[in-house]
Amino acid sequence: MTGYPHLLAPLDLGHVTLRNRVIMGSMHTGLEDRAKDLPKLAAYFAERARGGVGLIVTGGYAPNRTGWLTPFGSRLTSRRQARKHRVVTDAVHAEGGLIALQILHAGRYAYHPFSVSASALKAPINPFKPRALSDRGVRRQIDAYVECAALAREGGYDGVEVMGSEGYFINQFLAERTNKRKDRWGGSAENRRRLAVEIVRGIRQRVGPDFLIIYRLSMADLVEGGQDWAEVVALGKEIEQAGASIINTGIGWHEARVPTIVTSVPRAAFTSITAAFRPQVRIPVVTSNRINLPQVGEEVLARGDADLISMARPFLADPDWVLKATTDRADEINVCIACNQACLDHVFAKRKASCMVNPRAARETELVLLPTRRTRRIAVVGAGPTGLSAAVTAAERGHQVELFEADDEIGGQFGIARRIPGKEEFAETIRYYGRRLELTGVKVHLGRRASVDDLRGFDEVVLATGVVPRIPAIPGIDHEKVLSYVDVVRFGRPVGARVAVVGAGGIGVDVSEFLTTVDSPTLDLAAWKAEWGVTDPRQAAGALTKPRPEPSPRQVFLLQRKPGKIGAGLGKTTGWVHRAALKNKQVEQLRGVNYERIDDEGLHLTFGPKREKPRTLAVDTVVICAGQEPVRDLVDDLRAAGVSVHLIGGADRAAELDAKRAIDQGTRLAATL
Ligand code: NAP
Ligand code: SF4
Repeated sequence: MTGYPHLLAPLDLGHVTLRNRVIMGSMHTGLEDRAKDLPKLAAYFAERARGGVGLIVTGGYAPNRTGWLTPFGSRLTSRRQARKHRVVTDAVHAEGGLIALQILHAGRYAYHPFSVSASALKAPINPFKPRALSDRGVRRQIDAYVECAALAREGGYDGVEVMGSEGYFINQFLAERTNKRKDRWGGSAENRRRLAVEIVRGIRQRVGPDFLIIYRLSMADLVEGGQDWAEVVALGKEIEQAGASIINTGIGWHEARVPTIVTSVPRAAFTSITAAFRPQVRIPVVTSNRINLPQVGEEVLARGDADLISMARPFLADPDWVLKATTDRADEINVCIACNQACLDHVFAKRKASCMVNPRAARETELVLLPTRRTRRIAVVGAGPTGLSAAVTAAERGHQVELFEADDEIGGQFGIARRIPGKEEFAETIRYYGRRLELTGVKVHLGRRASVDDLRGFDEVVLATGVVPRIPAIPGIDHEKVLSYVDVVRFGRPVGARVAVVGAGGIGVDVSEFLTTVDSPTLDLAAWKAEWGVTDPRQAAGALTKPRPEPSPRQVFLLQRKPGKIGAGLGKTTGWVHRAALKNKQVEQLRGVNYERIDDEGLHLTFGPKREKPRTLAVDTVVICAGQEPVRDLVDDLRAAGVSVHLIGGADRAAELDAKRAIDQGTRLAATL
């Protein structure tokens, strides 16, 4: 008996039984796009199948060229390609897993000039205007879906997932927002859903009864002109009749201005929508979005919100997620903190995806952690993400590791990040490393600033001493109203009602959100829904209502010297959320500033290279977020003492240090020691 009886219960689907209620949802890694990468994809999925997941869904494959998300992206259109997929499906089956191929037609989200859709309406997030399909053209798309499903079966897949949500091709036919047609594919709701239903019916007729068809149904479009609840329900019923085996939940179009998966979205924020839908059909229903721990999944299923849960990113973070839940080791799970930094941000930049907290994700054949042949004594100095990843990886490989940390807790910069509203998940990574330190037997010295004498006897010393805040040379920087972000976030130093934040990088933006949030936690679901204008889809089409953000308790000015857009360096998939949050809180953003001086009156500015338009911000507090300087005091003395030293993380290069580089560097170094 485990603590997760609902989560781990098998599910009999007639011709096949899922071993538990956990689906690894679709996530494009970039390994889908070239046949030569299929062995790497096989290793990636096999590791997850070995970790016990009930069913895997691949990244999206286009059923034809017009449906390509990007030119030469993944597609499945020939028997030759299908045969090559056997390496993937065989690898998953060998581990006792099941795998379905997702069919994804991008429609007007296609990033090429040959895109097609219901109507010739350009998406706000894509420069290409699609061509409106003729009646014959629509039929050809349906045939392509059916053919793709048949090819998936030939390639050894156990089923397909038809991507009908997130604003892609099928969703574009379903919603009046994008479907202005007057023929039998547009106009009435019945006509608009004809495409979706005919695709599912056509696939079922072609593949026979013993093949899974999952339909990903958009239960809340979160855009103006989205489907209303009656349409969603009617679609679900017809999809069931057409022969789908399972209905999965999709939430929000990509062009929606409501975040749906970033870390500031509360856990399981949308499962109540699946719960409202579930009684409308008899086939199993899957829920998704921001479920990242077994306890969360168990609660969702025990409440009856759904029959299954789907998670994509949590399986990048930890391939053994299910195995650890099954063996009562949930405290060992490397939790996805929903940062998007190494997964979705990579995909959007046309780079291969991985995971910030697990650099091995989708690199299984390349970043191999073998047991060491010669156990050595290794000292790691600094217990931020860099030092932690180096210490536990080295220890896991069989080295004797001691970790020195001057602070009285582990976590480094993550200890600051976790205090930012909406970044509470970062605490999970600290918890995970804490547990791994215990399990691997690393000897931890907290509150101990390591000296050369402490380190002299080790075979290798890894310096991950991190960074300190940069103090810019602004006249009056020593004024009592000046604080660093560490003073404010970590040590809770009092801040006045009017505040200037100097520096608008990742930390300046985080600090602005920290200062404009009232004490009530952002991860409170009701408050979060009010801030972003999300309501029950039974009450408003698309589940949208007027946003009512909680007013900021302070007036905040966010400043940068560069003339460019504030927050330009933030992640592609998360930056817009931060910018919208700042706007919600009426943070005044000033760019192209020169910091003239700080005094009792406040912060004196001028603008532009000619130092014009002087302005004084009459602020009570100035918070400095002007980047970091490396801390590497020990390196020269250690080298002089003949110690073998490795400098990594912010201590190596403070500029543009982020946790992704930190953890990756720590892990890779330890893989070679
Ligand atoms: P950062 O991104 O480098 O930003 C520091 C800011 O300070 C710059 O925007 C710079 O803008 C300003 N600055 C630099 N030198 C200055 C000086 N001498 N005087 C006044 N202003 C100065 O560094 P950070 O904000 O400290 O973040 C550190 C790392 O953590 C970054 O790599 C960041 O990406 C990462 N991070 C990411 C997130 C996220 O949400 N993804 C959140 C937090 C941190 P101007 O020179 O134009 O004024
Ligand atoms: Fe999750 Fe971040 Fe890893 Fe993506 S990179 S899987 S969001 S922890």
